[in-house]
Amino acid sequence: MQVTTPAPVVLVTGAAKRLGREIALALAAGGWRVAVHYRSSEQDAINTVAACAGKQGDSALFDADLGNETDVNGLLLRVVTRFGQVDAVVNSASAFEQDDAASFCFATLEKHLRSNTGAPILLAQALHAHLASRNAKGENLARGAVVNLLLGYPDPSARLAEVLLDQRVMCGVGNVYRCEVLWATELSPYAPVGALSEHDAIRVVNTAARMLRSNLHHAKRITEPSVKGGLAVYGRNVQRCSRCADTIKCRRMGEHLRLLYWCPGCQTHLDPKPERSSDDTPMDPHPAAQRWIADLPWNRDAG
Ligand SMILES: [Zn+2]
Repeated sequence: MQVTTPAPVVLVTGAAKRLGREIALALAAGGWRVAVHYRSSEQDAINTVAACAGKQGDSALFDADLGNETDVNGLLLRVVTRFGQVDAVVNSASAFEQDDAASFCFATLEKHLRSNTGAPILLAQALHAHLASRNAKGENLARGAVVNLLLGYPDPSARLAEVLLDQRVMCGVGNVYRCEVLWATELSPYAPVGALSEHDAIRVVNTAARMLRSNLHHAKRITEPSVKGGLAVYGRNVQRCSRCADTIKCRRMGEHLRLLYWCPGCQTHLDPKPERSSDDTPMDPHPAAQRWIADLPWNRDAG
């Protein structure tokens, strides 16, 4: 007699849009039944369910406010009721609201803690309890997995050019590639990493991966075959940009003073122009910011 085991079930939080949706679709394509969680984007969640169903055949949507403990505690149980089991949770949903020294308050801190930390822990707890009960009922070694995603870089104001050299973020991207990746994606090296959309982030990663892959077996690095010499900006200080004919610039940047090459003419996407000066000073040179810093009570008193 042939025993067929049912397809495993995964709960993906924040699966209505963007990265969560892509994860849900990839898992459905891999044979998982997908529980699509959303909070307010119902129509997008319905679309994700339809797209998953097209790949795997069984998918359903679940709304829940991850900042609400009762909602979170009920979520996994609802998935079990619908599918009969849960085998994995992907914590993709997150709340990110920009705040700063002036607007910070406990209410925003708590909001982020609840949905970004509290909910993933409660869902892991619920999955553990569910697996324990399946094992107690005699299911042989039901195992589960929890995947936590964190899109946010610890310092959202960090400049993209420096983040690209952080090996925790982009393994394998050195100084040549970070300059070339930024040129290829038309992103300003001064863009604060927190301003990147998921679309931008995916473009950066894909471009870097493409360049690294195509150079695996060459001693001489070529990132832009269309440009004579193979590199678009690296080592081309004061030369003409092949894309916009502006003059390529070079500057030492960041903690390690690595040489950054970029084209100010076409690498303008997310460029925080008012916040940066022509030289690479660590202080925020914006006059309003300077005034604001000078006006802080401790600075005022000291002066
Ligand atoms: Zn250019």
